[in-house]
Amino acid sequence: MASIGFIGLGNMGGPMAINLAKAGHQVEGFDLSAQAVELAREGGCTIAASAVEAATGKDVIVTMLPAGTHVVSVYEEIRDAIGAGALMIECSTIDIASAAKAHEIAASVGALSVDAPVSGGIMGAVNGTLTFMAGGSAAALDAAEPLLDPMGSRMVRCGQATAGQAAKVCNNMILAVTMIGTAEAFEMGRRLGLEDQALFDVVSTASGQSWSTTTYCPVPGPVPTSPANNDYKPGFAAQLMVKDLGLAQEAAEGASAYTPLGKHAFELYRQFCDEGFGDTDFSGIIKMMQSAKK
Ligand code: NAD
Repeated sequence: MASIGFIGLGNMGGPMAINLAKAGHQVEGFDLSAQAVELAREGGCTIAASAVEAATGKDVIVTMLPAGTHVVSVYEEIRDAIGAGALMIECSTIDIASAAKAHEIAASVGALSVDAPVSGGIMGAVNGTLTFMAGGSAAALDAAEPLLDPMGSRMVRCGQATAGQAAKVCNNMILAVTMIGTAEAFEMGRRLGLEDQALFDVVSTASGQSWSTTTYCPVPGPVPTSPANNDYKPGFAAQLMVKDLGLAQEAAEGASAYTPLGKHAFELYRQFCDEGFGDTDFSGIIKMMQSAKK
C-alpha cells in the first residue's frame, strides 16, 4: 500500500481520495476549503496543514484542482517537498501548457509524472468508475495504473506527457458538437411533426447515433436516466463544458488546428451560460433551439 498526498478535495477529488483510503492506502489530503477537508476526514483520510505537508515523504502525490494556474502554483509550492522517485498524478482538466509545466517540475526533482484527466463526473468519482486518459512515460504509466484502479474502471494510455489532456479536450469537443447537433435535430423533428420517440428509434440505431442521443438524449422520454427527465439538473453543467471548450480552443490555436465547429460550440455554450443557464446540464442547450421563433 502506498502513502499518498492528495491536494484538492473538492467535488471530484474528495470522493477520489476517499476511494484510495478505502482501498487501504494511507491518504493525507489538503484543501483550502474547511468543508472539503471535513468530508475527506470523515471518509478516512488524514488531513495536512498545507500542500507542502501533504506532499512531504509521500510515494504518490495526486492533484485535482480547478485550473492550470492552481496546478502550476501548487507544483511550484511543493517542488522541494517532492521526493526523488515519487509519482505525481495530475488529474485536473487543464490547458496543455500548464500540464507540460507540471511534468517539467516533476522531472526537475527526479519524480515520475502522469497527466490523467478524467471523464465520468461526480458520480464516477463517488462510485470509483472514472475513465482516466493518461499521458506520460511508459514507466510513469505503469506505476500509475494500479493506483488509479480504486478510483476508476479504466486507464487509457494516450501517449507521452500531455497526451491525456489532449485526449480529454478532443473528446469533450466532440461531445459538445454532437450534443448541439442532436438538440437541433430533435427540435427540428418536433417542428416537422415527428414524435421524439420515433426520431430516437431511428437515430439510436442509424448513422446519426452518438452518446448524446443514446445516453444523454436532450428531450425527456426516450432515455429515462438522461438529465432532460430531471429538469436538466447536472449531470455535467454547461459552465464546465464552457471551460473545456475554452481549453479545446486554446489547444487548437497552439496546434494550428482548424476547428470551426469546436469554436462555434464554444460560442453557443458561452451564450447559453450568459443567459443564466451555467448550472444547467449541458444537454439543456436544446432550450436555445426551443425558444427560437417559429
Ligand atoms: P471543485 O471546485 O469542487 O474542487 C476543486 C478544489 O480545489 C476545491 O475544493 C478548492 O478549495 C481546491 N483548491 C483550489 N486551490 C487549491 C490549493 N491551492 N490548494 C489546495 N486546494 C485547492 O472542482 P471539481 O468539480 O472537483 O473539479 C476538479 C477538476 O476536475 C477540474 O479541473 C474539473 O474541470 C475536473 N473535472 C470535473 C468534473 C465534474 O463533473 N465536476 C468532471 C471531469 C473533470
